[in-house]
Amino acid sequence: MKVRFAPSPTGNLHIGSVRTALFNWVYAQKYGAGLVLRIEDTDISRSKSEYEDNIMEGLNWLGLTMDESPLTPLEDCLYRQSQRMDQDIYLQKAKSLIDSGYAYYSFETEEELEQERASAKARGEAYVYSGKSRLLSPEQIRSNLDSGMPYTIRFYIGEPQSIVVNDLIRGDIDFDTSLLSDFIIIKSDGSPSYNFAVVVDDYDMGITHVIRGEDHISNTPRQILVYKALGAVTPKFAHLPIILGKDKSKLSKRDGAVAVTDYRDQGYLPDALLNYLSLLGWSPEDGRELLSRDELISQFDISRISKSGAVFDEKKLKWMNGQYIRQHSPEQLLDLVKPFLSSVSVSAISSFSTTLQVQMIQSIQDNLELLSEVNHYLELYVISEEKFKERLAEFSFSEQDQRVLLLFASKLSSSNCSRDDVESAMQAICDEEGLGKGKVFKPIRIATTSYSSGPYLPDALSVFGLDRVLKRLSLTIQVDGYGQS
Ligand code: GLU
Repeated sequence: MKVRFAPSPTGNLHIGSVRTALFNWVYAQKYGAGLVLRIEDTDISRSKSEYEDNIMEGLNWLGLTMDESPLTPLEDCLYRQSQRMDQDIYLQKAKSLIDSGYAYYSFETEEELEQERASAKARGEAYVYSGKSRLLSPEQIRSNLDSGMPYTIRFYIGEPQSIVVNDLIRGDIDFDTSLLSDFIIIKSDGSPSYNFAVVVDDYDMGITHVIRGEDHISNTPRQILVYKALGAVTPKFAHLPIILGKDKSKLSKRDGAVAVTDYRDQGYLPDALLNYLSLLGWSPEDGRELLSRDELISQFDISRISKSGAVFDEKKLKWMNGQYIRQHSPEQLLDLVKPFLSSVSVSAISSFSTTLQVQMIQSIQDNLELLSEVNHYLELYVISEEKFKERLAEFSFSEQDQRVLLLFASKLSSSNCSRDDVESAMQAICDEEGLGKGKVFKPIRIATTSYSSGPYLPDALSVFGLDRVLKRLSLTIQVDGYGQS
C-alpha cells in the first residue's frame, strides 16, 4: 500500500492541506503503507520555491515524515512535477494515448472555443467541447503540426457512460460522462493538466489509496477514465470533508492565521495542532478528544470519517494547546518558551537561578494557552520596583484587607516563604478570621504583585522570596511602626 500528499506550492502550507497530510500520514503509519510527498508545481506562474520551502518546513515542524520526497527519492524517481515535465514524462504518456486512440491533438484557437461556449449559452445548454479536432484526418493533423500551429492534447471521453467512484468515505458516487468535455491533458504551453499529471504520477509511483480534499471529487471520474486508458488499476479514493470557517463558509484567512508556520510562531505545539486537526471530520470510537500520536494511529479508522464539513474553531485549538502545555514538565516548558521570550523577559529572568526560573514557569503553566503568552504572564516577575509602586497606587485596600495583610506578614516573617509556607499562612488566615479564600488571596495578591490576577500565588511569592514580599507588603500596611505609608 502506498499513499501520497501532493500539495501545489502556490501558497504556504495551510491548515486544510495539513489535515490532508496528517490523514495520509496516519493511514501510512497504521497500515505500514509508504508515504510519498509530491510537489505539484506545473503551474509555473503561480508556483514558487519559497512556498515549497514553507511546505517542507511546516511538515518537518509537525513531524509528518515522508518516506519518498524530492529530498529522499526512491532510486531516480522525480517528485516535482516540473522536473518530470522537463523529462517529457507527461508528453510521452499523452502521445501513447494518442496512439491508442484515447487522446487527440486539438487545434482550436481561444476565439473559436469562446464562440462554441457562447452558442451553447445562447441555446441554454451546459457547454461541452464539440470534439471538432477529433474528426481531422491524419494528413491534416500532420500538416498542422508541421506548420507549427499551436495545439493542445485532449482526452477522448468516448461514448456516454456512467462512471462510479467507490469512495471509502462517501460510498458509490455516479457520474454521467455525457456532461464532460474531452478535456485537455497537455496544454498549449506543453505542460500537463492537473487531471492528467496526477494520474500519470500516482500510477508511476504505485499509489494505492488517494486520500485528499472533497474539492477534488468532481475531478475523480476524469481521472478514472485516464487510469482505464493507461491500462492501470484505479486506486481507492477517500475524499475528506471540507473544513469550514466559523460562519460555515469556506475557511479563510479571517478564521485565523492560515499558514501552519504562523501557528508555530504563535506558540502552538505540533502535537496539539495535529490532535486538533485529526478531529476535523473524524472522531475515535470512544469519543475522546485528547489523543497522542500513537493513540491516533491505533484508533484511526477511515470509515469513521464524516461526510459533512468540519468547522475549524480556533478557540478550541487554543484550549487544546493549553492542555498540551500542561503535559510538559516545567523544565521542558522552560526550554519550549525560550524562543518566545522577549529581550526584557530574558534579562529579567536571567538574574534568577535555574531552579527559580523553573519555578516561575511552573507558576504560570496553568495560565498559558500559547507559548507566546509567556511574556505577558511573566510580567509580574519582570517589572521594576518603580513600576510596581506605580501600579500598586491604583488599588485601594479596605480595613479588612489591611488586617489580612498584617496577619500575613507576621505569619510569613518567621518562614522561608516557600510554596507550602505561603499556602499555610493564607489558609490559617481564612480559618482564624472566618474569611473565604477570595477575601484573603486577593488583597495579598495585589499588595505583593500589583496584579489582580495571575499565577498561583504561593508559587509566585516563593519565587519573589521573603525579603521582597515583606518589603512590598510594608508599602500597603498602615499600622504604626509598620510600613512606610
Ligand atoms: N495538487 C493538488 C492540490 O493541492 C492535489 C490534488 C490531489 O491530491 O490529487 O489540491
